[in-house]
Formats: sequence, structure tokens, C-alpha cells
Amino acid sequence: MSLTEFQLINKYFARQRIRRGDVVLGIGDDAALLRVPPGMELAVAIDAMVEGHHFPQGTDPFSIGHKVLAVNLSDMAAMGAEPAWATLAIALPNAEESFVAGFTEGLFSLAHRFGVELVGGDTVRGPLMVVLQMHGFVQAGKGIKRSGAFPGDAIYVTGTLGDAGAALQQILKHETCSDVLRQRLDRPEPRVQEGIGLRGIASAAIDISDGLVADLGHILDASGVGATLDVDALPLSSHLHEVVIDPVKRMEYALASGDDYELCFCVSPHRESTLRAVAHEWQCGITRIGTIDSEAGLRLKRHDGSPFKLQAHGFDHFAE
Ligand code: ADP
Ligand code: MG
Repeated sequence: MSLTEFQLINKYFARQRIRRGDVVLGIGDDAALLRVPPGMELAVAIDAMVEGHHFPQGTDPFSIGHKVLAVNLSDMAAMGAEPAWATLAIALPNAEESFVAGFTEGLFSLAHRFGVELVGGDTVRGPLMVVLQMHGFVQAGKGIKRSGAFPGDAIYVTGTLGDAGAALQQILKHETCSDVLRQRLDRPEPRVQEGIGLRGIASAAIDISDGLVADLGHILDASGVGATLDVDALPLSSHLHEVVIDPVKRMEYALASGDDYELCFCVSPHRESTLRAVAHEWQCGITRIGTIDSEAGLRLKRHDGSPFKLQAHGFDHFAE
């Protein structure tokens, strides 16, 4: 059955449990009216997802709804911002209700967990594409930027790395992929509480969407510094150990595959004890993987100090 655009909006997109007090006017008018709390800066991020590029063909609608919000929440986390409002543009090949039902279920169940209200959007016909814009708050001047890393800072990551990349490889090769690993690709868990907890502690942060090496590279460029990583210290899950037998390949997944949505952040040595106290509560855990230095470039080393040569590179949508 096919509904009109208007019916789709009313039946699915306008139905949500979250009603925020700072939304003066939500879905239904020409624009939403929103109130930014005094003393706060608005953090704004947007991410587009295209089938076959940002999620494999045939990904279930619930996961697509989850992921398009999760990747934007991950950007909020990387700034230390508290998520608040989302707007959504969606292109659908046809107004298929079962897709929209699953999509909004995935979107709203994550939105509910993080107190996010969908306040507007646009629904059009076209090849499947979803674009979500996220708005959050951070106390004026307290946003965690990429540019604050300083020589001597420790480099940390949350969670484990490489799982989503390994899942994607299995799917593309038509191998069976375990549910846990598939979830790491399809339903990333944004590190929102962790990002907020890093305010005042981290000197710089980024979320890992294109692979650790590529994304840490952005911190290094923005901060005008270099870094040395101990590849033997990279946090790898038991699932990655099961599906990738070669230990060097595992490190390559952790260093260069995308879609992890973990945070990579830098902390000055005198703040590390505060970090450990705060991070004690975090389920995902944190791992120290290296140090910022003044010499430009990224040096990858094994535990014994010998250099590690990386074959793969971070995912770049415009690369060959
Ligand atoms: P307009 O023509 O003024 O842009 P629309 O008819 O496109 O308005 O949309 C009507 C209302 O529904 C607007 O408030 C718009 O923000 C909202 N809306 C449309 N599509 C979506 C969507 N996919 N998700 C959330 N809100 C939507
Ligand atoms: Mg209008």
C-alpha cells in the first residue's frame, strides 16, 4: 500500500514519544521554532547516507534509521555536546509503508534513549537516501575541538576498533557474519555520555568514522602536531579475533577500516588521573594507544619499538 507524502509524515515521522520543552513548535509548520538555553552554543552536524555507500544494499530499515541518527550523535559526542533536536530529509523510491515503519522505529528508539526530538524534515521521491541534521548544546567555549592536541598528550580511544570493517568485508564477500559483528556495523552505539564526560578533560577529540589513522590524522593536522601509536595496544574485540586470524590483518582493520564510531581523544598527562576516574563508569572502556609529539606525521610502532607498515588506508568515498 502506498500513502501520500502528507499521510506518511503524519503516520510515521510526526509520531514520537519525545517532546522537549525547548521545542516551541515542532513538525507541522513551515519551520520549527526552537529555544537555545542561555549560555549555550549550538553544535550542528549533518550526515548523508546513500544505499550501497554508507550501508550495504539490503540493510534492514530499522538499522538505517538507527545508523543515520547514531552517526550524527557520534559527531555531537566528539564535540562534547548534548544532543537535542534532529531534522531529516529522506528520499524514497516509493512510499513503501513497511520501510518507513521500520526506519522510524529504528530512528525513534535511539532518539528516545538520548532525548532527541525530530522537529522537521522533508520527504521526497527518489533513489533511497537519508540525510539527518543534528543540533546539540555545549556551554559557550567548552566544545572539544580537533585543534587542541599538544605534544606530550596521551592518545586514547573508546571501545574496540575494526569490528564494523570486518563485518563489512564479510558481507561484501557474501560470507556469514555473526549478529554481534553485524550490529557493530549496522547499529553503532554513539559515545554520547562519554563525549560529554570528556569536556574539560580532553584537549582534542574526533569520532572515528573513516578509520583511526585517517581520523587521528585530522586531529594532528588541526593541532599542528604528530603522534606515535603502539599498534600492539589497539583494543580489539574477541569477535575480531575470531573472524580475522592474522594478527597483522587485525591491526590493519583497527587502524584503517571505517564505521567504528568510537571516540579518539587526547589528554594532557596531568589530567589522566581525572580521566581514569571519570571513565571508570563507562561500559565501553578506554585504551591508551599512543602519544602526541611535536614532530609532524604519524608513526606506527610495535611494542618492541620496531616500525609497523600499514598497507590499507582510511576509507575515502572519492578514492578509486
Ligand atoms: P514545506 O512544504 O513547508 O517544506 P512539507 O509539506 O514538506 O512543508 O512538510 C510539512 C511538515 O512536515 C514540515 O513541518 C516538515 O518539517 C515536516 N516533515 C516533512 N517530512 C519530514 C520528515 N521526513 N521528518 C520529519 N518531519 C518532516
Ligand atoms: Mg512551507
